[in-house]
Amino acid sequence: MPSHCPACDGAEFQLMFTASDRLYRTTTEKFQVVECKQCRLMQLAPQPTPADLEKYYPKNYWFAPGASTAGRLEEIYRRIVLRDHVRFVERALRESQETGPVLDVGCGGGLFLRMLSDRGFPGIGADFSHDAARVAWTSNRVPAAIMSLEQAPFPAGSCAAVTMFHVLEHLYSPRAYLLAAHKLLRPDGRLILQVPNAGCWQFLLLGPAWNGVDVPRHLYDFRPADLDLLLNSCGFEVLRRKYFSLRDNPAGLATSLAPSLDPMARRIRQPDESQRGRLVKDLVYGALTLASLPFTMIEAACRSGSTIMIEARKTS
Ligand SMILES: [Zn+2]
Repeated sequence: MPSHCPACDGAEFQLMFTASDRLYRTTTEKFQVVECKQCRLMQLAPQPTPADLEKYYPKNYWFAPGASTAGRLEEIYRRIVLRDHVRFVERALRESQETGPVLDVGCGGGLFLRMLSDRGFPGIGADFSHDAARVAWTSNRVPAAIMSLEQAPFPAGSCAAVTMFHVLEHLYSPRAYLLAAHKLLRPDGRLILQVPNAGCWQFLLLGPAWNGVDVPRHLYDFRPADLDLLLNSCGFEVLRRKYFSLRDNPAGLATSLAPSLDPMARRIRQPDESQRGRLVKDLVYGALTLASLPFTMIEAACRSGSTIMIEARKTS
C-alpha cells in the first residue's frame, strides 16, 4: 500500500482490484489498484520504478502515419476524430484572448498541434520520445522538445495555453506538472486537460476491463471531484468540462470489450498479421466502435462519459 495519498495525505487505502497489462501484454505481472479511504483517489500500488515503467510502454506507443494508402486513410480518420480537441482548445484561446504559444505536453507525432496551427494558433510540443519529437517536426512541421514540463526552457508567464491530453494519469507527480503549467501560463492563460473519467458508467459496468484503467501505465485514476480538488490546490479553477470525445470514447468502449481487436494493440502484439487478416479485424473493430457510439453519447450526456476534458484558468 502507498504510504500516503498525494491528494489528501490520507494514510488508509482499500484494494479495488488486481489486474495485469490487458491491452499490450508487456508483462504478466499482477498489479493492485487501491483507493484512498478519505478522498477516494485511485492509484496503482506499488508504483513501478521508472526502469520498469519504461518496459510497459511499447515502441510506437504514439502514432506515426505510414506512406501507404492505409496510413493515409488512418491520418484522415485521426484528423476527423481530433476535431473535438482542436475546437475545445480553440474556444478556450479565443475566450482568454491571451497571445503566445500553446504548449502541448505529450505531443506524440504532432497532428493536434498542426491542426491548431492551421487555425492560427501555433504551438510547441513536448514529449519523452525522441521518435515522436522527430515525427512531429518531419511530418507535421511542429517544433517539439524532449523534456519534462518542470524543465521546460520557456520564461514564466509566456504560454497562452498548456494542453495535456492523456498525460496526467501517467505521471508519478501530477501535482508537479500542474504547478509547472501554472508557472508557464500567462495571467489569463488556459490549462486544458483530458484524462479517462473513472466516474464513468463503463467503469461501473466493466470494472477492471474498462480500458481507462490501463494497468500498469496509468498510475492514477481520476474522478471529476479528484480533478477539481487537485486543480484547486494548484491554483486553478475549472471553467468547462466536456465528457465526450469522438476519438476516445467509442473506440475506448470497443477496446474494453475486445482488446485483442484494438489496432494499436495488434500492431504491437502481432506485427506479422496478414493484410487480409488485418483488414477483417479493422472492419470488425470499426463496426464495434460505431455500435459503441450511442451508448457513449448517452453516458456523456449524463456527465458520466469515459473521458473528461477540462478547461481551467489560474486563480492566483
Ligand atoms: Zn486521499
